[in-house]
Amino acid sequence: APAEDPQIVVNAHGLPYLNSKLPVQKRVADLLGRMTLEEKAGQMTQAERGAMGKPGDIAAYDLGSLLSGGGSTPTPNTAEAWAKMIDSYQLRARATRFQIPLIYGVDAVHGHNNLVGATVMPHNIGIGATRDPRLARRTAEVTAAEVRATGVPWDFAPCLCVTRDERWGRSYEAFGEDPALVESMETVIQGLQGRRDGRDLDRDDKVLATAKHFVGDGGTEFGSSTTGSYTIDQGITKVTRKQLAAVHLSPYQEAVDRGVGSVMPSYSSLDLIGDGQGPVKMHARGDMINGVLKGRMDFDGFVISDWNGIDQIPGDYASDVRTSVNAGVDMVMAPYSYKEFHSALVAEANAGRISERRIDDAVSRILTQKFKLGLFEQPYADTSGARKIGSAQHRAVAREAVAESQVLLKNSGGLLPLKKSQKVYVAGSNADDIGNQSGGWTVTWQGSSGDITPGTTVLEAMRKNTSRLTYSKDASAPTSGHDVGVVVVGETPYAEGVGDVGNGHDLELSAADQAAVDKVCAAMKCAVLIVSGRPQLIGDRLAGIDALVASWLPGTEGDGVADVLYGKRPFTGQLPVTWPKSEAQLPINVGDASYDPQFPYGWGLTTLTKVPHGGTATLRALGPAASAAERAGADEAGRALVTKARLIVQQKPVTAALAKPFAEADRLLTQGRYGAAVERLTTAYREG
Ligand code: BGC
Repeated sequence: APAEDPQIVVNAHGLPYLNSKLPVQKRVADLLGRMTLEEKAGQMTQAERGAMGKPGDIAAYDLGSLLSGGGSTPTPNTAEAWAKMIDSYQLRARATRFQIPLIYGVDAVHGHNNLVGATVMPHNIGIGATRDPRLARRTAEVTAAEVRATGVPWDFAPCLCVTRDERWGRSYEAFGEDPALVESMETVIQGLQGRRDGRDLDRDDKVLATAKHFVGDGGTEFGSSTTGSYTIDQGITKVTRKQLAAVHLSPYQEAVDRGVGSVMPSYSSLDLIGDGQGPVKMHARGDMINGVLKGRMDFDGFVISDWNGIDQIPGDYASDVRTSVNAGVDMVMAPYSYKEFHSALVAEANAGRISERRIDDAVSRILTQKFKLGLFEQPYADTSGARKIGSAQHRAVAREAVAESQVLLKNSGGLLPLKKSQKVYVAGSNADDIGNQSGGWTVTWQGSSGDITPGTTVLEAMRKNTSRLTYSKDASAPTSGHDVGVVVVGETPYAEGVGDVGNGHDLELSAADQAAVDKVCAAMKCAVLIVSGRPQLIGDRLAGIDALVASWLPGTEGDGVADVLYGKRPFTGQLPVTWPKSEAQLPINVGDASYDPQFPYGWGLTTLTKVPHGGTATLRALGPAASAAERAGADEAGRALVTKARLIVQQKPVTAALAKPFAEADRLLTQGRYGAAVERLTTAYREG
């Protein structure tokens, strides 16, 4: 604790809520019963720490929470500096009447991406490609440990968006286009929080998770907007009730069942076909937040608004406050307008337009999580885990995830894996750029190119495998005398809005990238790696490319890419989204009536040379087992059996003929028809 800690405030000393032996519910009730309306309103207010006028505002407005948002002013770049900063704010909160600790939140969406030197994981789209929920959980465990070690107990992650149109710039934050895949990644919540009853939350390596953005953020229509600012991010999701439930809501039930501590509404609007309301901002949708999330799904954590999210509700600020809080928003992220929010909330409550019951419910939900996090007992940063930040052990987990996330889309003549003896020519804009391979939400909000944090680029990782390597970023003079070219191309970083197609981006490779691919592939056998947050259009160029890999946004551990390139590990990743032939095909998703993509959802070749229990005999045994799992409703087991079947089939020299059965099997998997999925794969194996 900082030296200036006032320790015990006299009024609070000895009060029941400070007794850690009492059940949380009793402590909440005791504390709530003592609080004024102003103090309660403070708990419901979250300010941006860089936007705070003076630190004294914490006590003056009884602030319940602070965040370092994406657009925050310069953040500290060591664990110690983070801890010191947060402790200094906590000290202010401790000086209030009841010493209610602040809950500090950050976006750690792929590792503790706010901190230079932290382990940066692949973005969610890559995690989805692994089809490995257990590995996803382990990456989240690393994230939680690194975040908590800097004094931060709350993470605005994971995004449970189901991306349906990759013109959306935030598609990289989605585990995929298939709700079943997104559901399976609820293990991330377990990795962040620990056990489902919240008993692990007070550990020094766990954080409170946030399922976001509720609901339909990934389903917005291209060109739709109620605010006019973005074409698809924050747009309108127009669906029937049935589609909403089947595609976008189902991951939230998984998250709630897993005990997720907080949920963030989406900036987008929901236009429920047939309900006669037209598009309504999610922050105003009481039918969804109160009705579905807290009611039907039985969510007992708290709802935190998105950044200025309530401001987008039509009407003046007082009505924004009233509408959102009455809809079920418990805490409002009011980065700059925290004073206005606090006074508007108090005024609306005093006027009876927000009931005392609603306020008490919101504050109880917030306090419950603060007690569970152990913040009353240990408000200050415990940095004992800080030495593990960016450690070899943590980076090894990321490396594994990177390797499993690589999707081999084409591999003519078995060009991959490379042999160490081959002379290799490496080129392309993303071969040697940590910033580009990390994408948005890395050190800064939108991310940036260049050497922004310690890590290993794809080029550096390849150099660890061979000394017979020539590198030229722009592929100048790719001479003969090389056995193989590796061209690493793709996107430059963006986080929100700016990545939208129609907003400065499209899905075409840049002219420089196209030139690099063409030059190298004309001169020698070539493998093209696409480092990007979503599919990039390849079109006819595919014919001239021998091997094609979707590398997604791997983060700091380029070694994982080299592991599969050089055959230390097999390629096993599968497409988490459909890979289109053209932008005109979008939106395109598995299950569409006419489906003619470049590569179907679930596609991914393997360089596995032997599956220990492979072959037709195993496939025959897997079918009945999958059917049994299906009948028993054992989804996890069913999914695992289908995955196993796939891996066996993928061992065959793969031809495009497998694309259709793979897509069909994946669709059956989504429908929970595990037996039929295995059968489909078995037929493909026999015929292929
Ligand atoms: C994003 C959220 C994020 C919040 C806080 C918003 O702009 O939509 O995902 O949690 O900022 O940084």
